[in-house]
Amino acid sequence: MKRLEDFPRLPLGAFPTPIQRLNNISDLLGTNVYLKRDDLTGLGLGGNKTRKLEFLLADARQKGATLVFTTGGAQSNHAMLTAAAAGRAGMRAVLVLKKRGVTACVGNQLLEKLMGTQVCFVDTDDYQDIYRKMDELGKASGEVYYKIPCGGSNALGTLGYVDCAREIAHQAPRFHHIVCAEGSGGTMAGLALGAKLFLPGTRVHGMMVDTDPFDVITLALMRQAADLLEAHVTVGPEDFDLTDMCGPGYAIPSEEGNAAVRLMAEKEGIFLDPVYTGKAFAGLVRMARQGAFAPDENVLFLHSGGAGGLFALEMK
Ligand SMILES: *Cc1c(COP(=O)(O)O)cnc(C)c1O
Repeated sequence: MKRLEDFPRLPLGAFPTPIQRLNNISDLLGTNVYLKRDDLTGLGLGGNKTRKLEFLLADARQKGATLVFTTGGAQSNHAMLTAAAAGRAGMRAVLVLKKRGVTACVGNQLLEKLMGTQVCFVDTDDYQDIYRKMDELGKASGEVYYKIPCGGSNALGTLGYVDCAREIAHQAPRFHHIVCAEGSGGTMAGLALGAKLFLPGTRVHGMMVDTDPFDVITLALMRQAADLLEAHVTVGPEDFDLTDMCGPGYAIPSEEGNAAVRLMAEKEGIFLDPVYTGKAFAGLVRMARQGAFAPDENVLFLHSGGAGGLFALEMK
């Protein structure tokens, strides 16, 4: 098997991120709940995409790219962090975003304005239209350009969360469960593969915040990342659990998710977001109330960020 160090990597974040016990929420839920603070990754307002971008932008640089494209919705945290990372790496980012969600100059749109990022909206629901637009803009620029998929979720980006699992293996305590949000799949696939490699006995639970076929997506990304690493492991659906926490739709706040955002704010003074981490933490609360965790077990929730979008959505 290759080592993660064998892959080129741009240092963009502040790692390792801390792990903290949530004392009040642990009391409330009757199990030991810890937070992996990937909202403090040290770039932009923090978030999970920094780990993926360290691998992706290193690959872009190695290929001689000076222009980086990526995509997502109007309030994509991933797109905003890609622009932040590209700026720090001395590259130019152009965001080709779906004209979906809040396009006004608030939330991540405001942050992109502050960075001087070029944003181009395409009125489509089909990513093929988006990637075509990137090629059109890329060819017209005359620069070497590099396309990063939605959420940075390809095999290389997934390595960022394989590495996060390795990081967790070096931190205390030992965890019986890891819970995270699943939006484009790379985070969950990386943690599930990483747990197989570095955290035997840890169960990984993905909380789906969109309606894509995540069973297929997660397995495909795990396999592709394992191939990149030349890791001789067989991956299967038994390697992870999935729970549907999407509610009324992607990026539409749910009552259960909003309640979880409020719970974390009130009890711990930490802010989740209504699109990803709030819905995912609601999934953890639901599991705890259903008795899925023993009182002496340690449960790690990945706080994957999302602060940029928090101020763009109205929460009742
Ligand atoms: C993108 C994102 C996720 C989901 O990660 P994926 O790798 O896309 O599944 C979770 N939380 C936040 C805040 C995100 O921006």
